[in-house]
Amino acid sequence: MLLKLGMSDLLEVSYLIRLVMLLISASVIYICIRRFAGSVASRLFDWVPVSSRDRVLMAVISTLLTTVTIFLAVHFYVYNGLDYQPDIYRTGNPKTRQVALTFDDGPSQEFTPLVLDILKEYDVPATFFLVGIHAERYPDIARRIAEEGHGIGNHTYGHITVPTASNKALYEEVIKATRVIAQTTGEYPKYIRPPRGVYDARFRRLSHVLGQKIVLWTISTRDWRYGTSTQAIVRRAVSQAKGGDIILFHDSGALVRNEGGDRSATVRALPLVIEGLRQKGLEIVPLGELLEEEFGEEFPVVEIPE
Ligand SMILES: [Zn+2]
Repeated sequence: MLLKLGMSDLLEVSYLIRLVMLLISASVIYICIRRFAGSVASRLFDWVPVSSRDRVLMAVISTLLTTVTIFLAVHFYVYNGLDYQPDIYRTGNPKTRQVALTFDDGPSQEFTPLVLDILKEYDVPATFFLVGIHAERYPDIARRIAEEGHGIGNHTYGHITVPTASNKALYEEVIKATRVIAQTTGEYPKYIRPPRGVYDARFRRLSHVLGQKIVLWTISTRDWRYGTSTQAIVRRAVSQAKGGDIILFHDSGALVRNEGGDRSATVRALPLVIEGLRQKGLEIVPLGELLEEEFGEEFPVVEIPE
């Protein structure tokens, strides 16, 4: 059964206003950096005449610093969040020796069956965050994922960027993916992961209403990078791994397009990652089990008089 939602369930902030807000904040950061860097430079180098070349250089440096600042801010938002977020799962309980494996962007005709074969051979559970379009295109593979007992998650219909999507697009993307994934796999997606880990308040409310837990990750293997190697993936997945970790892989996707990336390094790395994690004494468990032992921000206990 799928829930029905009205547009009024979403926060009413239009796409244009969001875009304007983003541009204004980027400009404010730019101006602050320029002024700050400018005043420091003029104090340190007040004996140097300011030529137009210096001004150009200053503008270039400020632009670079602004880009880096915005990148770091987004990174912090994805991995930590800026507010109280008991609804977002980024890790299991670090006191356990359990970890969970997750695969995004599939199913892929080429790589998902190979990933499933390896998981079966090693008897390891995983969770697949499916892109709706791909589940529609490869329903047999989507069904196989569920039949082999793996967890199913929603990764939107067309792998959209959540914060820049209009209300209508966001609503359609999430609902349509829910429907397609449920129809092809026969399972209602219990989990949802926003593409690139970028979410917003509307996404959090919608996921909550749909009963889909937002699950991000602790370790990214960065297997989406062009030309990444098997060794690099194994190193990232195993060397930092500790209890409670949610490890992110990709069985489909591409840098710009939604599909077509080469995931053969991920496939080659997977057996080595499983063996490496086991050697470290870590147990690979289903996402549901990892989150049962959840170690999130705790809700305050309120005593209610009888
Ligand atoms: Zn993705």
